Amino acid sequence: MIEKRILVIYTGGTFGMLKNEKGVLVPQKNIEHRVIRKLSQLHDNEYWEKRLAKTDRQEYLALPDGKDTDVKVLYKILEYDELKDSSDFMTDDWIKIARDIKKYYMDYDGFVVLHGTDTMAYGASILSFMLETVGKTVVLTGAQVPIFQPRSDGNNNILCALLIAATQYIPEITVFFGCKLFRGTRVKKVSNTRIYAFDSPNFPALLEAKTTIDVDPKMLLHVSVPNECILHDRLCTKIYLLKVTPTITPAIIRAVFEGMEGIVLETYGNGNIPIKRKEIYAEIERAVKNNVLVVNVTQCVNGMVHGKPLYETGLLLLECGVVPAYDMTSEAAQAKLSYVLSKTELSYAEKVELMKTNIRGELHNPHLGVK
Ligand code: ASP
Repeated sequence: MIEKRILVIYTGGTFGMLKNEKGVLVPQKNIEHRVIRKLSQLHDNEYWEKRLAKTDRQEYLALPDGKDTDVKVLYKILEYDELKDSSDFMTDDWIKIARDIKKYYMDYDGFVVLHGTDTMAYGASILSFMLETVGKTVVLTGAQVPIFQPRSDGNNNILCALLIAATQYIPEITVFFGCKLFRGTRVKKVSNTRIYAFDSPNFPALLEAKTTIDVDPKMLLHVSVPNECILHDRLCTKIYLLKVTPTITPAIIRAVFEGMEGIVLETYGNGNIPIKRKEIYAEIERAVKNNVLVVNVTQCVNGMVHGKPLYETGLLLLECGVVPAYDMTSEAAQAKLSYVLSKTELSYAEKVELMKTNIRGELHNPHLGVK
């Protein structure tokens, strides 16, 4: 039987949490021995004892045989020393994950990252940009209910993520949750209670785990890429998000823009801001003139900010050099801005151009006429 090897990077998140003495969930160490090795759905102990226990592969776990694949899926869990609720993640946490994927790239056939759901959409986008070329399937997943609980969704999520990473050729960063696999740059957390916690409102899921698990190659960003991992492991942290709301003032804009190289402006509807209060617009224009890269993302869950504004309330932003984000999610726009601004070899104009160009399946620019 052919064996495939998957590295599972366990970073924390609800997947591996239990309540502490204050009654709140915190990440737990050693989930492999405390739970996963005991779950017959996730570990074939008989195979392990017969084929792995007395070999140099004893650190691997083995998925039980099933109808989804003829290959034997072996996986190793790399547990981080400091496990985190993903709300605590900063850019360095994703740089560490990206570096580990690069470090172990040649040793495994695919990668699964166990990640908290709160910032998984940010993480999936950031990893998508940092890993400039990846020729293996990388799946982020987690759980809404801890793996210690009988009703955990973690069992199915990690099982499907492992099967996808081992059997499907999807050379990009993805998120599996519930029953769907999403493109990393398109996904959003949409619920903190439902088992189907993620969605990809502007782009279809890459695959749905039905009675079978198969990706339609038409959904892929690349049908084939070199089997190598090219990593850009720098990110600009001088970026932030400003949401336009009716009580916005120039002082708020000034405070948020202070010291920033890039801002994602979450605007109304088609990319609109108040224009009757001229001082609002003037503040944004001043920042753009000072070379702050400002990107216009819609607050709507679904839809886009076009390169050709529909309303007078959207025109001024475009005229002063604010860059339309098209149908990027806010998370993807922030991740892309961090990535693009870290390319110090590029001029301001080249960075603007890159923001408008689809590089990881993150946007559809209808004015270019290609998907
Ligand atoms: N607060 C948790 C986290 O993001 C939520 C989860 O994993 O579902 O780590």
